[in-house]
Amino acid sequence: MLLISCPNCGSRDETEFHYGGQAHVPYPENPNELTDRQWAEFLFYRDNTKGAFAERWLHSTGCRQWFNMLRDTVTYDIQAVYPMGTPRPDAAVKATARTTPETGTASTAADSTTTGSAAPSTSTTSISPSTSETSTTAPEGAIK
Ligand code: ZN
Repeated sequence: MLLISCPNCGSRDETEFHYGGQAHVPYPENPNELTDRQWAEFLFYRDNTKGAFAERWLHSTGCRQWFNMLRDTVTYDIQAVYPMGTPRPDAAVKATARTTPETGTASTAADSTTTGSAAPSTSTTSISPSTSETSTTAPEGAIK
């Protein structure tokens, strides 16, 4: 379950929210001038992004306010929460914001398996015996 940080209420369970689809889909300036295909594309066609995706969310059982969220569709990592009407945070802002909420998103995505990636610990212990074996001063003593 996602832990979503509402801009008005703070962190709440995903069950308090409703998904509102893709964000930043502007209403056509003059809908009557659109062809049927253009109108249908506005109504029904949305991006199917793999990666960072800007979407709308409604805090339906809380403050009942809409807001935008930038979420990674692969890792479910919530990269940004920002108010309606403000532009989508670009890639540069996303890269800097990714380092700061790292601890916050770790608690947010507690169910995801991607958070606990640790470096292998056997590398430091295997280096020292291999260097003593390659040294030419005492190979026979090491073998016996
Ligand atoms: Zn709220």
